Amino acid sequence: MTAIQPMPLQSKLVSRRDLAFVLYELLSVDGLTKRARYADHTRETFDAAIDIAAKIAEERFATHNKKVDQNEPTFDGNRVLIIPEVKAALDAYCSAGLMAAAHDYELGGMQLPYVVTQACFAHFNAANIATAAYPMLTMANANLIHAWGSEEQKATYLPHLLSGRFFGTMCLTETQAGSSLSDIRTRAEPQSDGSYRLFGSKMWISAGEHELSENIVHLVLAKIPGSPPGVKGISLFIAPKFLVNRDGSLGARNDISLAGLNHKMGYRGTVNTVLNFGEKDGAAAWLVGAPNRGLACMFHMMNEARIGVGLGAVMLGYAGYLHALDYARNRPQGRPAAAKDPTQPQVAIVAHADVRRMLLAQKAYVEGGLALGMYCALLVDEQKTAESPEARREAGLLLDVLTPIAKAWPSQWCLEANSLAIQVHGGYGYSREYNVEQFYRDNRLNAIHEGTNGIQAIDLLGRKVGMDDGAAIQILAREISRTAREAMAAESPELRRFGEQLGVAFARVMDVVREFQCANDRNYARTALANAHVFLEMTGHVVVAWIWLRMALVAAANLARADAPDGNFYRGKLQACSFFFRWELPKTEHWHRLLNESDRTCEDMQDNWF
Ligand SMILES: Cc1cc2nc3c(=O)[nH]c(=O)nc-3n(C[C@H](O)[C@H](O)[C@H](O)COP(=O)(O)OP(=O)(O)OC[C@H]3O[C@@H](n4cnc5c(N)ncnc54)[C@H](O)[C@@H]3O)c2cc1C
Repeated sequence: MTAIQPMPLQSKLVSRRDLAFVLYELLSVDGLTKRARYADHTRETFDAAIDIAAKIAEERFATHNKKVDQNEPTFDGNRVLIIPEVKAALDAYCSAGLMAAAHDYELGGMQLPYVVTQACFAHFNAANIATAAYPMLTMANANLIHAWGSEEQKATYLPHLLSGRFFGTMCLTETQAGSSLSDIRTRAEPQSDGSYRLFGSKMWISAGEHELSENIVHLVLAKIPGSPPGVKGISLFIAPKFLVNRDGSLGARNDISLAGLNHKMGYRGTVNTVLNFGEKDGAAAWLVGAPNRGLACMFHMMNEARIGVGLGAVMLGYAGYLHALDYARNRPQGRPAAAKDPTQPQVAIVAHADVRRMLLAQKAYVEGGLALGMYCALLVDEQKTAESPEARREAGLLLDVLTPIAKAWPSQWCLEANSLAIQVHGGYGYSREYNVEQFYRDNRLNAIHEGTNGIQAIDLLGRKVGMDDGAAIQILAREISRTAREAMAAESPELRRFGEQLGVAFARVMDVVREFQCANDRNYARTALANAHVFLEMTGHVVVAWIWLRMALVAAANLARADAPDGNFYRGKLQACSFFFRWELPKTEHWHRLLNESDRTCEDMQDNWF
């Protein structure tokens, strides 16, 4: 049997042609340069930033992806040890100014649109998601301090976070409180000088202890004694590893200690910690925002964080797909079913229809996921910079309703893409010599963290579709109907049919929403929520079908004037859209039936029947 050597990862992070299609042909991101905030930018400056990101990702991140997976961080009782390539990569990331890419010029930023920064970050996620987690957390941390911190807190921490001198964490979870944050126990004791002392333990904290940066800024959820029970009594605090003096120099080490490292299935390069706050006289901490508003502050950043997790899932799926495609084109095995002459050479496995099925499914999932994630990232920009207050409000509502889908859908279906990438590789895919098994392991986290997919489903049905009297879902309905109508007026009979199918599929979603909102029967609402996962599946598939139809309409319009390589690119888009509408969208009929019939199979199952 011929063993095919793995190709270097460099060329297989993301298709630049596809990224350009999504950014400029589908989303017209260059139109943002007309807005005051982005007036200094052009498509060329956007592309230059993406080029820099691609180069650093390929040369510094991808090159140690496997090594850091095989040599995960260790604790020698004193220090956390991480292979040196991680720090070298992160130094290159920070030196290029990427940590502050979306921030104001005055803060040392580039004032790039969020969607462009996500196009940059896509390369890091594809190259080495574990090393990319350090800047991802730091940027989220900085954004939160930027949005909610006092002027003094911003002055103390922001410049150092945005330059990469300090890194950040998010400390929410405790052993007894993961999905249910209302049950956190970390205590914040007020001090006479207005600061607080933290006592408690946090579980699963990514990047909680390391020497990759001079300092670590922990953002910690805790309860002030006497505050209301549940989520209404949670406050947010800054607790740095080293106290920071007025001049920015570092002071004494804070009372925050590493209780141990967690050893994970994937994302192994991201050190994951159990942190104890206040083993001695309490960890010095400062309140961010108002007391008892900690979760609201966190949720303010949740849309961006969840889109980031969804795009991470997309890019792991995308990298797996590009590896599988390359392998399938180079792996000779078997002969065409109709011509099994053993004297003839074997064909590359891409010639087998079943392998094309697996590649097409991956393409449909990952390119659909990329377009959805980038669309949501553009909505972040629209929410902040659209011309009219009404346009900003609508973008915010649309973003709210799409966020659980943008997080959960890729973490399920782009993980499925990773599984198919292994299958395309056959036995080699199951070996650690190749990269695809690591992509799968890394991607498995994305359905769990930043709110499990089960929690996303409850959020979508229980909260998002009903918020503002259903305003968000109505805007989504308007947008989907617009695309369906456009498709029904297309020249291609197939696109006309897809337009009709999309209309019917979304009507089913609205059917469930209406029943749920109008339900006087509490049992109906309870059963619908018990089946919220099915609703998320159905709505996610309909939304991605919508995104695919939008891509197909652009591809069909541009095909006529395309040269040969671009012609193939657009035909590939049209074929993947056909795959999604013929093979995937029909699944929503079954999911709708379960919801429509208020299926109680899971709800009625008794614990003692297992
Ligand atoms: C590698 C890794 C990195 C992480 N990094 C961080 C970090 O940096 N900071 C941080 O604060 N946390 C972090 N986490 C924690 C992560 O956010 C939690 O694991 C996650 O929120 C789930 O909490 P849990 O693990 O306690 O699971 P649980 O909450 O116990 O959930 C277990 C299962 O029960 C389901 N479930 C729970 N409640 C309900 C409900 N009400 N209805 C229906 N189903 C429910 C869940 O969907 C899940 O399937 C990380 C976790 C991992 C594994």
